[in-house]
Amino acid sequence: MNTVIRNGILLSTTGATPADVLVAGEKVAAVAAPESGLADTWAAGADRVIDATGKYVLPGGIDVHTHMEMPFGGTHSADTFETGTTAAAWGGTTTIVDFAVQPKGTSLLSALEAWHGKAAGKAAVDYGFHMIISDVNDATLKEMDACVGAGVNSFKMFMAYPGVFYATDGEILRAMQKAKDIGATIMMHAENGIAIDQLVVQALAEGRTDPVHHGTTRPPELEAEATHRAITLAKVTGAPLYIVHLSASQALSAVAAARDTGQNVFAETCPQYLFLSLDDLGRPDFEGAKYVASPPLRPVEHQDELWRGLRTNDLSVVSTDHCPFCFKDQKQLGKGDFSKIPNGIPGVEHRMDLLHQGVVRGEISLGRWVEIASTTPARMFGLYPRKGVIAPGSDADIVVYDPRARQTLSVRTHHMAVDYSAYEGMSITGRVETVLSRGRIIITGGEFHGRAGHGGFLARDLCQYLT
Ligand SMILES: [Zn+2]
Repeated sequence: MNTVIRNGILLSTTGATPADVLVAGEKVAAVAAPESGLADTWAAGADRVIDATGKYVLPGGIDVHTHMEMPFGGTHSADTFETGTTAAAWGGTTTIVDFAVQPKGTSLLSALEAWHGKAAGKAAVDYGFHMIISDVNDATLKEMDACVGAGVNSFKMFMAYPGVFYATDGEILRAMQKAKDIGATIMMHAENGIAIDQLVVQALAEGRTDPVHHGTTRPPELEAEATHRAITLAKVTGAPLYIVHLSASQALSAVAAARDTGQNVFAETCPQYLFLSLDDLGRPDFEGAKYVASPPLRPVEHQDELWRGLRTNDLSVVSTDHCPFCFKDQKQLGKGDFSKIPNGIPGVEHRMDLLHQGVVRGEISLGRWVEIASTTPARMFGLYPRKGVIAPGSDADIVVYDPRARQTLSVRTHHMAVDYSAYEGMSITGRVETVLSRGRIIITGGEFHGRAGHGGFLARDLCQYLT
């Protein structure tokens, strides 16, 4: 099956240029300047020609932080691999990297097997896995080798959630030493969970039980402190470190300082920290529960700093931390006790559109949009150049994007399996028009043409940024 995409504006990390693209089977076969006339020849023998006049043609989005069907506090996130990856496709994301979770007392490989079981035959787009380590011991450390051999070479640890995922500094140190030996990356949820838990106990005892106190009991300083501590442990061990869902300007300063010394420290932020704030957590009638995630939404003044971090590359990636819980049955678990609200905000469908608003508002360039949403995630997690670029030999994961279309985000029109939108009523400039996943058209004309099981597992190489 050959497809020609012609007359579009091809986007890459270096900007925008008019170009025609030939897709043969699952791969990009050629890219040519329109004046070469090559597209006429291609079109004559093609099964399909997509006219992309006035549209952007960009590599499919890569969301390296999602939680489909993730267990949390006695329930699990509302999207399955099928619904979550289908929603991703609608929003122009053609690859996700999800987190397999090792419950305490079990093995990493059994966790990996369990997550393969959830995703295989279900995913609509390609997917990879990171591994969450919640039990550091000799057996776990040994299993990290086997995980790398199985294409899973990034390991997430938590300085938050004591009693669940929390790892001590000593455990983090040991896992980092191992990571250094095998070239793996440690991903860190950096919040001081020990101190936070005391603030939570105090708040509840004083009757401060509303969702907004999820935010006030997790101050930015405790994210900054943990970020700095993680960076220090990484420095001592020499392990590469990737800070997930960075939300606070103070934490960003710690990352920037480490990067200035040449340390292999990287960080991502998420759209919710760029577009939502503590004010949303304070919405009345328990509606703030829709915005409970950790780290929490911050006061609005942090947003400018995060955009600046994206421009300076102290923030290298934007992922979603997509972790949807329904308002009706799941978020209500925390009525009268904010600490029981399942943590997570839905967003896998909207990341590309929201970041395009950054382009529209002049916060980032077109090239930077592609870089933080696709190319850098691919390089950071060992998928480049198979993913993250439109070039001969790459997978034909391609988005045709109409930069002038208008849309309004709403639970009534989104495709995630969750009963609210964190961005309800938000007006967006730009819209995904057509999506190809490995050469196959999965979205076009406002319809989904993909299928569960089209998406395959991606065994990933090591991080491609290490110095
Ligand atoms: Zn997460």
